[in-house]
Amino acid sequence: MDVTIKFLGSNDAVPDVDNDTVSFVINDRTLVDTGWCAVHNLRRNGIDPLEIDHLLFTHFHQDHYLSLPSLLFYWVMNRKNLEGLRILGPAEEVHQVVQRTVEFLQLERFFPALSKPVIIPIQAGDTYEYGDFKLSTCASKHNVPALCYKYTHKPSAKQVSFTGDTAWHPPIVEHVRGSALLIHEASMGTQEVPPDNPYAHSSAMDAVRVAEAAEVDKLCLVHGRTAYIEDSLNIARQLFSKEVIWPHAGQVVHV
Ligand SMILES: [Zn+2]
Ligand SMILES: [Zn+2]
Repeated sequence: MDVTIKFLGSNDAVPDVDNDTVSFVINDRTLVDTGWCAVHNLRRNGIDPLEIDHLLFTHFHQDHYLSLPSLLFYWVMNRKNLEGLRILGPAEEVHQVVQRTVEFLQLERFFPALSKPVIIPIQAGDTYEYGDFKLSTCASKHNVPALCYKYTHKPSAKQVSFTGDTAWHPPIVEHVRGSALLIHEASMGTQEVPPDNPYAHSSAMDAVRVAEAAEVDKLCLVHGRTAYIEDSLNIARQLFSKEVIWPHAGQVVHV
């Protein structure tokens, strides 16, 4: 297997006891969004939080970055220099959120000898390469600056895409075209919503529209409340010709 996605959670903004807000890890090294409890989620899934070398934020709503402070604190409590952690996210907000986290943790006062994380601001359209991966981005349609990420595993050319939070947004179709796995939010469940809905979120049907038009091999629905999962899966499986899942916390998907 070339790419392994470990889901730490798949719920929406207010998580359940046993399923955090959506967050996942690629090949045990790249964490995508933090959810509420990143350190606990990583450890219970056998991943050492100190081994995460890239942290990618789709956007800076709180449910996606809430446990950044505890992740950084775990590193400094283990006396690990934070420069080993590269934090990527929308250029408009990534500096502010990381800087405020550093101030909140009082790192200058309590850990003056340790370095700060490396911040890599990303604009829609940017690419970034590290190790075996090439990352490419497009804008998603949300009510704060937000990115859709596509990870290309260079040795195998396999692609995994994640929309982050978004309403229906046609440019995403082209961006994720041909992905082996599309992770698409479905916050609105089976409720039809217009692209300009005030929540700036998608339904399960919107996710299928993207998956079908982009000819992806597998659709993974995330970012919905537990009560929506069964109906969302049912309708998505009726509408989409290929496999659809809604991963549970701890589920591993091989691509
Ligand atoms: Zn969210
Ligand atoms: Zn959001």
